[in-house]
Amino acid sequence: MSKLFLTVLLLYTVSLFSQENLTPSEKTGFTKITTYNELKGFIYQLDSISSLINTEVIGQSSEGRNIYALKYSSGIFGSDNTKIKVLIFAQQHGNEQSGKEGALLLARELLKPENQYLFNRIDLALIPQVNPDGSEVNKRRNANNADLNRNHLILTEPETKALHGFFDKYQFEATLDVHEYSPYSKEWEMAGFRKNSEVTLGTTTNLNVAKEIRNFSTNNALPFLLNYLKSRDFTSFVYCPGDLPGQGYTRHSTFDINDGRQSFGVQNTFSFIQEGMNGKDNFTENLGKRAKGQMTGMRGLLEFIYQNEYIIFKMVHRERQQLSDGKANPLVSIQAEHSPNGQTLQLPVYSYKSGHDSVVEIIDYRPLVTSLTDVKKPTGYLIPAELTEITAWAERQGLQLTDYEPVSTDIIEQYFIQQLDSIDFEGDIIIDPTVKTKNIQVSELTGQYMFVKTGQLKGNLAVIALEPKSMLGLVTYEQYGQMIKPGEAYPILRVTKQ
Ligand SMILES: [Zn+2]
Repeated sequence: MSKLFLTVLLLYTVSLFSQENLTPSEKTGFTKITTYNELKGFIYQLDSISSLINTEVIGQSSEGRNIYALKYSSGIFGSDNTKIKVLIFAQQHGNEQSGKEGALLLARELLKPENQYLFNRIDLALIPQVNPDGSEVNKRRNANNADLNRNHLILTEPETKALHGFFDKYQFEATLDVHEYSPYSKEWEMAGFRKNSEVTLGTTTNLNVAKEIRNFSTNNALPFLLNYLKSRDFTSFVYCPGDLPGQGYTRHSTFDINDGRQSFGVQNTFSFIQEGMNGKDNFTENLGKRAKGQMTGMRGLLEFIYQNEYIIFKMVHRERQQLSDGKANPLVSIQAEHSPNGQTLQLPVYSYKSGHDSVVEIIDYRPLVTSLTDVKKPTGYLIPAELTEITAWAERQGLQLTDYEPVSTDIIEQYFIQQLDSIDFEGDIIIDPTVKTKNIQVSELTGQYMFVKTGQLKGNLAVIALEPKSMLGLVTYEQYGQMIKPGEAYPILRVTKQ
């Protein structure tokens, strides 16, 4: 081939990528967001030109729109046990548009020849839009007015059910949940500054996630990711929700397991959250830069996972085996609090007064999570078969549920609710029952029971969900609160083998 021909071919290839595969929003110079129909068209356009991609519809929203996953694999997705499976999902909150736009940029970026090495070690599923109904009207919640990122424990919404069904099908070793944060509030403006990092990142903080996974995320992945973003000209920081300095404390992410990161994390997944900075006055403000920041964070995580694939794969599989065998953490933390580590936080901010980047010192900084109440993990729980709302929940979660066959050596513990107090959980006041336990004989059981063993991948999730004193448990949700009645027994029983 002549040099001229090669040059023309190269230019043609470059123009293929730079012109024809522009994302719908990119085509408008990021002055418009990508609609659901445009997103669908773009996904199938990429799918048709690349053998790497297989598109899967993982479910439908409550208004019947499809939720798409682009599955990238150099072979058959999920079939090669030497590869690590990564799930990136964006836009659970419909008004956080840059996550979707960043995911669509990434979808195209990954087809470039210089990125192909990733798929020697990674099978990636990319879901650009978990909440299409919310996105179409630029609203946080789905069409049922549910906050999807508070729904991962109870799983009542079609979008979260679809996401968890998809996760369960492939058992991804690593996940990233992509969001936006908004630093623009009157209070911060009056104080003269606001948070200012373009991309922030959070790791799993629930104490029941294997310690090794939490440590590797915080000590290895997080510094890598922050540096990856900085070296590509995006300001970045650890995700730090909190009130104004002097008016409350600053912590890292929630330890609740009802969000995307922690609900997968508690199954000993290498799991993260990313929060890009929102636009101030409207959702397209600075959208191009914001989308690229989100894309760069996602790409950074893929890079870290690629470089540490062996370590992460081994760690996740070892810790999951411990969970399944019932050998992981014999104690489960069901109440916890954020606490200080003796250090202050130098928080990067934008100063309205000077018009420049600055730093404020946060004195009340509580980066640690410490347990207030632990319970001994039982062998399993007995759910009365007539409590169909609970057995239906267990089925939605994909928990292994069997008919209980009584064995005379089983020790059954029953909780008695003595009184109902309250406890602060990250600013919300929730119930805190005082309980006492008594042992009852197997022969005293009446009625049918379903058995949920704790020796399963979702064993810690089951304990956190079913304990009556759990501040993250089902009883803290309105629809299950009736199981707690002062002066009465709690209907779900603990089984410990003799
Ligand atoms: Zn969000």
